[in-house]
Amino acid sequence: MALERTLILVKPDGVQRKLAGKIISRIEDKGLQIIAVKMLKITPQMSKQHYAEHVSKPFYPELEGFITSGPVIALVVQGPEAVSVMRTLMGSTNGRASAPGTIRGDYGASRQMNLIHGSDSVESAKKEIGVYFQDSEICDAPSVLTPWSWAAEEA
Ligand code: UDP
Ligand code: MG
Repeated sequence: MALERTLILVKPDGVQRKLAGKIISRIEDKGLQIIAVKMLKITPQMSKQHYAEHVSKPFYPELEGFITSGPVIALVVQGPEAVSVMRTLMGSTNGRASAPGTIRGDYGASRQMNLIHGSDSVESAKKEIGVYFQDSEICDAPSVLTPWSWAAEEA
């Protein structure tokens, strides 16, 4: 096991629908640590960097239109196996098929407007964190709750 970082976005639909508080609460409730946060508007250039693996796919133009359509909230979340823990918390891509109890399963019914992004691997996380944050914007301060959130041997 290892302490990992993952890049999370509350997507424009989550911000516009005023679900950001609920979505961020789910991350806090899970016991993961938020070590960076900012609101910003994604540019087409950032979208192409972030979604490099999808740029040539038929759905990309609409995805870029959506992700650049309004402010997002970007977060860096840290914890043991944070990448897969967040993917489980988020649910599968299509909100219509995501399990109840997951963020996408509870709050949405769209495949595109699925409220939240989470990196799919430690390698993607590293690349994606670099799209949104400078090293100096990451506040990796020890939390007094960490010893109550996971054991030393899990991190
Ligand atoms: N997406 C879309 N149409 C599709 C597949 C994906 O609009 O047919 C959007 C959706 O917002 C998704 C994002 O593109 O979250 C990235 O797709 P991916 O397959 O990587 O899903 P994720 O990793 O976000 O679950
Ligand atoms: Mg993905």
